[in-house]
Amino acid sequence: MEKGEFGLIEWIRGQFRVPDGVLGIGDDCAVIPQHDGQETLVTTDMLVEGTHFLLEDIDPYSLGWKSAAVNLSDIAGMGGKPVGTFLSVALPKTLDDSFLEDFFRGYKDISDRAGCPLLGGDTTASPDRLCINVTVLGNCAAGRSRKRSAAKPGDLVCVTGPLGDSGAGLKVILDKVERFEEETILRERHYRPVPRIDEGMKLAETPGVNAMMDISDGIGSDLRHILEESGTGARVDVRSLPLSAELRAVCARRGWDPVALALEGGEDYELLFTCRPGTAVPVSHTVIGEILAAPGLHWEGAERDFIGFHHF
Ligand code: ADP
Ligand code: MG
Repeated sequence: MEKGEFGLIEWIRGQFRVPDGVLGIGDDCAVIPQHDGQETLVTTDMLVEGTHFLLEDIDPYSLGWKSAAVNLSDIAGMGGKPVGTFLSVALPKTLDDSFLEDFFRGYKDISDRAGCPLLGGDTTASPDRLCINVTVLGNCAAGRSRKRSAAKPGDLVCVTGPLGDSGAGLKVILDKVERFEEETILRERHYRPVPRIDEGMKLAETPGVNAMMDISDGIGSDLRHILEESGTGARVDVRSLPLSAELRAVCARRGWDPVALALEGGEDYELLFTCRPGTAVPVSHTVIGEILAAPGLHWEGAERDFIGFHHF
């Protein structure tokens, strides 16, 4: 088995034969064709106290919001419409009712905004840490969902919004340096990401949009998934990365590198997609590079390589 998170997932992937027409491990969601001209999308993600969040660093409302948002984002990453979520929680005895009420308020607010109700789940005790697992079901017209594997040489590489805000927001939280309004805005971006569901659905209806995924680990890592699954390479001009005014201001003040945060910070939950040049892209976006036939990821205007966030 190859080392690391992705080596383990590849090993698991090799254990099962998946029926023709079904997309299993390897994309933002599994895709299961239905008989009515639709396909069902399924995604699941776990958040573990101590690994994904620290209770002293995140308020319960934001934790509830984020637990739903990061999963809804995987449906957005394929261009689907989320139809329902399932929430399982393992609760340590130390959590009080007000924590849970606030957690569910956050979970409900982003669910309402996404038009996606909670349909089930599981509740159990945890000896020690809080664990949260969310599963989301979505749907899409058959053949419309956008895969990581569909990038073609000559495609433009695009993102739907600013990169690095969430990574910088996490640094603001961990370094305890929230003094100015820009820092508060970045912290909010980290705590309460907004999944790009409408944008994803519009992109999935646009001919010429090829590969798509959501940005959870930073494009230093996420773009590599598109390249690996598509058997292509890419060049990215780091000077063209969309950076918010808040990110620029905070990085200038604190001496942080905005490009490193944009490429490796992760958790921006914008969409990363490729499209043919000349495509009438129906959502606000920035072109950051181009897909190449030869494998390899080239950063233009950068002094070093960027790898994105890895869990282990
Ligand atoms: P994302 O960041 O988009 O949620 P992940 O990096 O978590 O994606 O997962 C990548 C792919 O690997 C997905 O298709 C996911 O379903 C699959 N995967 C991850 N962990 C496991 C596991 N333990 N068993 C089966 N599939 C897994
Ligand atoms: Mg994803």
